[in-house]
Amino acid sequence: NVSSHDLKASDHKHHLHPFTDHGALGIDERRVISRADGVWLWDTDGNRMLDGMAGLWCVNVGHGRQEVVDAVRAQMSELSYYNTFFKTTHPPVIELSEMLAGIAPDNINMVMYTGSGSEANDTILRLVRTYWALQGQPSKKVVISRKNAYHGSTMAGASLGGMGAMHSQGGLPIPDIHHIAQPYWFGEGMKTDMSEDEFGLWAARELERAIEEIGEENVAAFIAEPIQGAGGVIVPPATYWPEVKRILESRDILFIADEVICGFGRTGEWFGSTYYELKPDLMAIAKGLTSGYLPMGGVLVSDQIAEVLHREGVEFFHGYTYAGHPACCAAAIANINIMKREGLVERVRDHIGPYFKSRWMTLEDHPLVGQARMVGMFGALELVPDENDLSKRFDNVGKVGTITRDHSFANGLVMRAVADSLIISPPLTITEEEVDHLIATARKTLDVAWDDIRKQGLA
Ligand code: PMP
Repeated sequence: NVSSHDLKASDHKHHLHPFTDHGALGIDERRVISRADGVWLWDTDGNRMLDGMAGLWCVNVGHGRQEVVDAVRAQMSELSYYNTFFKTTHPPVIELSEMLAGIAPDNINMVMYTGSGSEANDTILRLVRTYWALQGQPSKKVVISRKNAYHGSTMAGASLGGMGAMHSQGGLPIPDIHHIAQPYWFGEGMKTDMSEDEFGLWAARELERAIEEIGEENVAAFIAEPIQGAGGVIVPPATYWPEVKRILESRDILFIADEVICGFGRTGEWFGSTYYELKPDLMAIAKGLTSGYLPMGGVLVSDQIAEVLHREGVEFFHGYTYAGHPACCAAAIANINIMKREGLVERVRDHIGPYFKSRWMTLEDHPLVGQARMVGMFGALELVPDENDLSKRFDNVGKVGTITRDHSFANGLVMRAVADSLIISPPLTITEEEVDHLIATARKTLDVAWDDIRKQGLA
């Protein structure tokens, strides 16, 4: 029986964690998560924690669903792997594709599979440029993205993303990627003399200005998450998406919705695009597609693009060995079946989402919280040094966020820190009682953190 400390020591020695300052990560700071059920996690030190991040925005149907496990097991016995290259296909990939066409917006009926969200965005970048070349417009190559976006870790994903070092490390970005402002009212808009609505219009018109500067004949697409997730659950001002829609409608530019986080019920609709009534030409999906039970991503493609790819003589020279892996398809099918049968999307829209939001917003009265926000099952708290002057921010950006996040872990609630904000995204199956527990733990965490921060002279 290996001790918890030995496991952590081995992890320290052999496991390079993504996105981690290894020099700063002590052996015993690690959490070895060994079991999960519903919204609950257990670690090898015997702690129980509420999974306020649904794994990493994936486990929408909750942990430990035997139905998904059984479906994967049955599929593994029947046909564990076959490829989908050239002419071969198999029953689970056919069934899943039809299901996805059924829940996607009306103009989208085809899907190309990948192993992850990063691969989905990588595929999309090649696909949009190939599409325009096939349409006789090879100069349309530039993809416009937004600052502080996260679109994955491949060369294309990291280039499309706009997060600090990630966007430049390793010789990035690749050419023909352009970034515009994000519609982040609390972080950026409040510094200006604009109202929130005016700021939303301004941020949307940054797209228009970029298109004019680059030239419409050179712009292939605009990529965005309906609500930026990893960037900090950035809910745009109400004016933003209608204005972006207006700008795109009058132009020959494709719209790519990155639905890796927003998709599969997170906003209380099947997709964030549906929530904002957007009409994407392409959608990147992953995470909630299988609720994380097995790795899988995909690209949903509009009829207009599919028609071009279906023309005789056209071959999109692109594909992954594990595209449409039968076991992953089985997990996705079982996951979507649970979501439909339990009405999880409607539950978030009509019942548990509004309940969670009403409770979450009460945290705004805490002296450490400058703003609370939530859409569906997707929220954030902006931490500030002075609740009476919301223009003030902490000096050492990120420090207070990290301290508060660590207190939250210690209190048994997993939240994530993004700079000096905390974000929350629990499984969509969370009960009212569990929401109450989450809110009580978050409040206790804010109290402890507020004391600690003042003791350290940070506020
Ligand atoms: N797009 C978005 C919006 C994401 O949040 C993520 C992952 N956090 C990705 C793409 C990349 O997905 P993956 O980690 O599966 O490659």
